[in-house]
Amino acid sequence: MNLDRRRLLKVAGGAGAGLLAAPTLLRAQIRPKVVIVGGGPAGATVALTLAQAHPDAFEITLVEENELYTTCFGSNMYLAGLRDFESLRHSYSGLADFGIEVIHERALLANRSEKVITLISRTRLDYDRLVVAPGVDLLYEQVPGYNPQAAKLMPHAWKAGPQTRLLRQQLDAVKDGEAVVIVAPPDPYKCPPGPYERASMMAHALKSSGRGGARIVILDAKEKFSKQALFMEGWQALYPGMIEWLPPSVHGGIELVDPVTKTVATDLDLFTGTLVNIIPAQRAGVTAREWDLADPETGWCPVDPETMRSALDEAVFVIGDAAAAGDMPKSAFSANSQARVAAMAIAADLLGAPRIEPFLFNTCWSRIGAEDAVKVGGRYMPKEGKITSVASFVSAPGEDAAVRRRAVGESDDWYRSIVAEMFGPGAA
Ligand SMILES: Cc1cc2nc3c(=O)[nH]c(=O)nc-3n(C[C@H](O)[C@H](O)[C@H](O)COP(=O)(O)OP(=O)(O)OC[C@H]3O[C@@H](n4cnc5c(N)ncnc54)[C@H](O)[C@@H]3O)c2cc1C
Repeated sequence: MNLDRRRLLKVAGGAGAGLLAAPTLLRAQIRPKVVIVGGGPAGATVALTLAQAHPDAFEITLVEENELYTTCFGSNMYLAGLRDFESLRHSYSGLADFGIEVIHERALLANRSEKVITLISRTRLDYDRLVVAPGVDLLYEQVPGYNPQAAKLMPHAWKAGPQTRLLRQQLDAVKDGEAVVIVAPPDPYKCPPGPYERASMMAHALKSSGRGGARIVILDAKEKFSKQALFMEGWQALYPGMIEWLPPSVHGGIELVDPVTKTVATDLDLFTGTLVNIIPAQRAGVTAREWDLADPETGWCPVDPETMRSALDEAVFVIGDAAAAGDMPKSAFSANSQARVAAMAIAADLLGAPRIEPFLFNTCWSRIGAEDAVKVGGRYMPKEGKITSVASFVSAPGEDAAVRRRAVGESDDWYRSIVAEMFGPGAA
């Protein structure tokens, strides 16, 4: 990292839009600084979009604590044996080719009035614009008996990495006739169809390996879920009798989970599984909350729907899962789309680039079988102070097998393209 340069710039009075009128020599040396915290689909996309759209115009620093990013998207297919673990992991090394400095550290503190953040090593980074994209935190305590220690026995696998591998190991150990229990979270949470795709991919893994007598029970916190009719139709067709979904009006609520006996006690009954997958409720990552960017009531970060600018600080943008993004679901696709809108707004702020009407999109594909995927999606625009759905689509029940196979191909293509938009063309 070029700390001397940062110091020099500070002495020179800081960078910013005003300096763009400076003589050419100075302009070449002093560039507005954009610091991005979090290198997921939100943060990595905004970094690469700015660098590609405006080469050398910004000093871009991406702060991400992990050296490799493991995608949650695609991880259910790893459970099913349809992807290998390494294919989910991506390095940030290609970003250097675009002039992006990547610092693998945790960002700890923000002094928003002085526009500076401090990393765990005490390195201070000053910024003209800060992008905060820390994803979600899991509210372990909202599931009685669950905590990070219990997650070593009853994995959540809702943050990809070691938890994903643990879930796969436990799934591999399930014997024919044994039970799997999934506790699904209340809204809003990342990837609304994710728990049900996970149940489908677990059923695929079990059935295709001669364990079709195993049972999967989903104890949900919700009365209905994303793409419900499509999943239920697919479960009936592909895994008859294997997956049972129970809403809270049937199970009466989770009273206690016990990691030792792998039991979930509900008002209705005790459910014991060889594998118990607990997916707790969620809220914006702690970094956004500690930096006072979240609404303390909801736990999510309010944003201007035109730009993804924080409603609480003009110099800060919050994108991805941490943002309260109106009708947009929390997904990697949404995060990537929001990142483009934020990048445009940052370029307009700091370079005077034209402001274009924001277009926000999402598509979530879900795999039900090896050759069977469904999708839901939409287009969103700012309306009455909120990101509002203006058009939507969803796969139809009873679709032709060829249509479902095509959707599998689309989702594989999307994975390659989002990875290229995060880590550079060489990553796909
Ligand atoms: C099982 C599963 C399946 C999914 N499938 C899909 C799918 O098919 N399609 C889809 O669109 N979405 C899918 N998703 C959702 C998707 O993974 C998330 O919506 C997306 O990752 C959100 O991106 P983000 O950048 O906001 O946050 P994240 O991807 O969570 O990235 C946040 C990053 O910030 C870093 N970070 C946080 N705080 C700090 C700090 N203080 N300092 C430094 N670094 C920090 C973290 O290490 C992390 O890398 C799925 C999710 C799950 C769990």
